[in-house]
Amino acid sequence: METLANYINGEFIPPKSGNYMDVYEPATGQVYAKTPDSNSADIDDAVQSATAAFETWSNISRNERSKILHEIANGIESRLDEFAEYESRDTGKPLELAKSVDIPRAVTNFRFFADHALEFETESILDGNGSINKVVRKPLGVVGCISPWNLPLYLFSWKIAPALASGNCVVGKPSELTPYTAFKLGEICQEAGLPKGVLNIVHGSGQNTGSAITSHPEIKAISFTGGTKTGETISRTAAPLFKKLSLELGGKNPNIIFADCDFDTMLTSTIKSSFSNQGEICLCGSRILVEDAIYEKFRDAFVEKTNALIVGDPNDDTSKLGALISKEHLEKVLAYVALAKEEGGTVLAGGKKTSINDRCENGYFMEPTIIDGLSADCRTNQEEIFGPVVTLIPFSTEAEAVAIANSTDYGLAATIWSGNPDKANRVADQIDAGIVWINCWMVRDLRTPFGGMKSSGVGREGGDEALRFFTEPKNICMREV
Ligand code: NAP
Repeated sequence: METLANYINGEFIPPKSGNYMDVYEPATGQVYAKTPDSNSADIDDAVQSATAAFETWSNISRNERSKILHEIANGIESRLDEFAEYESRDTGKPLELAKSVDIPRAVTNFRFFADHALEFETESILDGNGSINKVVRKPLGVVGCISPWNLPLYLFSWKIAPALASGNCVVGKPSELTPYTAFKLGEICQEAGLPKGVLNIVHGSGQNTGSAITSHPEIKAISFTGGTKTGETISRTAAPLFKKLSLELGGKNPNIIFADCDFDTMLTSTIKSSFSNQGEICLCGSRILVEDAIYEKFRDAFVEKTNALIVGDPNDDTSKLGALISKEHLEKVLAYVALAKEEGGTVLAGGKKTSINDRCENGYFMEPTIIDGLSADCRTNQEEIFGPVVTLIPFSTEAEAVAIANSTDYGLAATIWSGNPDKANRVADQIDAGIVWINCWMVRDLRTPFGGMKSSGVGREGGDEALRFFTEPKNICMREV
């Protein structure tokens, strides 16, 4: 049984309390490691080491910082297969997905911000009356980065990379359910020559470690990705301390399918947007809105393709879905299927826990599930399920599709399928979501703003938005003499 450690001031050290939590492999239901449950004393140490490192890290050239971030990217890339195995073991996701998406994207996050920070410009504004305004952006100091379990290193690095690239020092916490790749990132940072204290990775529960980060007076900003309820709790703690807040929260994304779309391309992509990563991606389209004219055709083809998806051992190349993250989460998702039935829904595919033989017989597996016959305003269609469960909702007009799409408290992402660009753009314009894909899904350019409207978040990540978040603007106004 391996015991993980915190990475503070460039060293691997145990939590001061000596308290640890079990780390489960979702595919087997077995405990394979122990991770620290750190408390405010560990966070104090991490903040102290980050504060001491800030003077140097914020003052070295952007080029120097960029070189070190590139070294971190190279380090992860050189151990890609190994990191993918860790990520798959921690999350239950298919190994192939971790190899092709999670770990390559973590590499790209470091590379992208290593380069992007070099292009981040100082603005100059001439007022025409003899004075010049220079807007310089300074790093904030010590910042907190808190990330969830569904895309562990992908989302942890999405925060850490821009924070470091813009000259901040970081106290980061991965989810207690998926600590392993963040733990190994410490080794990569040591090898890459990241100065001690610049990045501190502290493991533990949200209640102990997470809240010690959000309430720490010396932490100037919190970049958080996770559930909407947790976002609310964090806001209550951090806002009165005047911390900057970036909150990337839950979603209940509509996937709107018009009859004039390219049916085959749409169908292939809809299978992915529904069930990739067991539906545990905040951007998955969980409400599928289908125009009346093709409802039956779509329903039948979608059910057939879904039933053909293999749920299996994440290590097996043929597995399209692996295990859900935990026993509790599996039970929560199954409870939503029961609720959907109570609300009058019909389960067209899946709906049940499933068993996998041999090493995975105690894993948290579930069949990909399709439900129809529900009203758009029922709980199943309003609340985030975050598992392999989608609902089908027919519509007859553009206006109806927009009204249903916008009828939840969330506003993270939406997808529109149509062969008519005018119509697709008209609908996209009316959807309340931070990102709308037309005839595609999960296509990402890291320069673009990323985030949610309504209860899906506050602020934006990505490109200049992330670098703006992690810096404070200062206007220097000089009159010419
Ligand atoms: P979560 O329970 O909100 O946890 C997210 C992170 O916050 C974890 O590290 C968690 O630690 C920590 N945390 C929990 N309570 C805290 C507190 N009181 N103070 C500070 N930190 C605290 O979310 P999750 O279940 O891990 O992730 C699933 C959610 O994330 C879904 O709602 C999904 O939509 C959302 N998500 C959003 C995006 C986006 O970009 N908008 C991307 C991915 C996921 P523990 O793990 O130790 O509890």
